[in-house]
Amino acid sequence: MAGLFGKIQIGIYVEIKRSDGRIHQAMVTSLNEDNDSVTVEWIENGDTKGKEIDLESIFALNPDVAPEEEIPQSPETPPPPVSSAIKINKIPQNKNRRTVAPPKNETPARDNRVTVGTTRARPSQQTEPPPPAPVPPPPIQHQTLQQQNARRKSNCVKEVEKLQEKREKRRLQQQELREKRAQEVDATTPNYEIMCMIRDFRASLDYRPLTTADLIEDHRICVCVRTRPLNKKELTMKDLDVITIPSKDVVMVHEPKQKVDLTRYLENQTFRFDYAFDDTSTNEMVYRFTARPLVETIFERGMATCFAYGQTGSGKTHTMGGDFSGKNQDCSKGIYALTARDVFLMLKKPNYKKLDLQVYATFFEIYSGKVFDLLNRKAKLRVLEDGKQQVQVVGLQEREVKCTEDVLKLIEMGNSCRTSGQTSANAHSSRSHAVFQIILRRRGKMHGKFSLIDLAGNERGADTSSADRQTRLEGAEINKSLLALKECIRALGRNKPHTPFRASKLTQVLRDSFIGENSRTCMIATISPGMASCENTLNTLRYANRVKELSIDPNAVMEGRSAGHSVSQLDVLEAQWGVGSSPQRDDLKLLCEQNEEEVSPQLFTFHEVVSQLVEMEEQVLEDHRAVFQESIRWLEDEKVLLEMTEEVDYDVESFATQLEQILDQKIDVLTELRDKVKSFRSALQEEEQASKQINPKRPRAL
Ligand code: ADP
Ligand code: MG
Repeated sequence: MAGLFGKIQIGIYVEIKRSDGRIHQAMVTSLNEDNDSVTVEWIENGDTKGKEIDLESIFALNPDVAPEEEIPQSPETPPPPVSSAIKINKIPQNKNRRTVAPPKNETPARDNRVTVGTTRARPSQQTEPPPPAPVPPPPIQHQTLQQQNARRKSNCVKEVEKLQEKREKRRLQQQELREKRAQEVDATTPNYEIMCMIRDFRASLDYRPLTTADLIEDHRICVCVRTRPLNKKELTMKDLDVITIPSKDVVMVHEPKQKVDLTRYLENQTFRFDYAFDDTSTNEMVYRFTARPLVETIFERGMATCFAYGQTGSGKTHTMGGDFSGKNQDCSKGIYALTARDVFLMLKKPNYKKLDLQVYATFFEIYSGKVFDLLNRKAKLRVLEDGKQQVQVVGLQEREVKCTEDVLKLIEMGNSCRTSGQTSANAHSSRSHAVFQIILRRRGKMHGKFSLIDLAGNERGADTSSADRQTRLEGAEINKSLLALKECIRALGRNKPHTPFRASKLTQVLRDSFIGENSRTCMIATISPGMASCENTLNTLRYANRVKELSIDPNAVMEGRSAGHSVSQLDVLEAQWGVGSSPQRDDLKLLCEQNEEEVSPQLFTFHEVVSQLVEMEEQVLEDHRAVFQESIRWLEDEKVLLEMTEEVDYDVESFATQLEQILDQKIDVLTELRDKVKSFRSALQEEEQASKQINPKRPRAL
């Protein structure tokens, strides 16, 4: 290899030609074997400049340093002594110029190759044509030099041709490599450069992911994040994985951004949680650090909750309910089942065995603020609160379970009930919260309860301005319940006296789990790794971050801030319906005050209107049911009355009085119901109006 460089050595001076045609001397500072070039340096205007030049160009300008070949000595043309004058006066011939001319398709951007203050110019295969002789040399010397050059050039030509061959080969190899790479990742995708940036960034990281050897910490509130692998659809769409989990508790989002000059760059956002699970983590692994440490809590007379929170399709159901293989879900691999398994194991421990505990399970769904029993053909249930603030889901089926298999059967039953009649399992389940509970009872009395919740997708904020009422109400309820959940967990972390649990059905039915000394909770924020999900992912991470952030900062108590919200236009209706200062409404107000940044006054009004609407709907239905029952009684009374008139000597006076009474009663009751229906209808219209006032941007950031 060294032979290729001929007589070039580090430290010698050679002629170089600049892009402006100037030729001057420069010192060789390195020999680059990898691309057959040399690096040279010179001083210009006080600055050290450098550049990389390929050997062909050097030899063309400095034939004296080219490798020599054995040439038969001719007596007529003895080799003249090499003198420094030769360097100045060499005259390259056209033949040689051709061999060192730059390839036609390469535009020589030579100035780029000159770097100031550094010798690390980038490699190049370009060559520069030798310059025309600036000064015609004197004839005698010319003669000698031509002879000399002729000999040297014959070596030089061979050498240059060899180099050129090599260079051509290298160029082809590189071309092949580029094409291969392009096929692999399709360089035509607009995100190719982003992908490279992420790849380079990852290559610089030192990965230390969570392992089973890591310590399971004891948290009252545990918040963690889990990312799933890119799915088929995302891969087909050439979506990029923008999530990196370098260590056991850190998650990074590589958000692609664009500068004003349209150059793209990555903004790497880092979040820290209690644990971070990468896309290779199994449900068992996630369970180990999240729900498992809470199992003991319920044996110690406590309450435990574990939530999966995230956008639709991010893996909540996969985590809680179990792995999917195609459409079938393996319930035994989900956190519901894994928890049940350990509950039964724990039950066998001598300490707990002597307590003689019974295990029960419930499974229900909360959709649009209504509760449906998944273990009882989706029966709609009512939520009541007694004088002691005890919340009860009336008629909820609580099934006794003796082993894990019993639990699996219930989960399967509930799951099929949850999705029955739905065209897409996700379409429906993403709009509802599923609650699976394991309850320990001792002689009928509650001992502990574990609630495992697969929450509705958190991306529904913008739905509040949808054209479809059903979608709007769903969206509002989801938005409100997720805000309420956050506040309830924060309150749990700070032992706050008042929790706005009544602001949503979800938090209302879980109330007993948020209060009390011995309550613990865990939030698993699931995220989709694709670049297309970036905004939702960041929203999820910010939400999760706030849940925990406040729990570790006991001084950051939010004192009652002035509401600053507009007065609801429903005040008039409230008087009629007598729900003016309901605890639900107070909690909603509190909730919105605590989340002023996210809840605009218009959204607050909308939430109020929706809450009223839901309450009114319940009342109208209840009243209608009562009127219906009453009607049956009226019919019976009227029948008796009519039968009486068939008697020959019936009391006309009594008949008239009784009929009048019945009719009066009917008119009163029906008028009242009609008025309620009327105002219910105007509330529906008001809801539509209120929804149009919302800036769709605001509620997105939960
Ligand atoms: P969500 O309940 O949040 O809407 P799913 O749990 O239904 O999302 O997951 C969406 C899809 O992604 C499913 O097909 C599921 O099998 C797949 N998936 C989710 N999490 C993972 C994971 N950790 N590993 C492999 N596939 C996953
Ligand atoms: Mg789901």
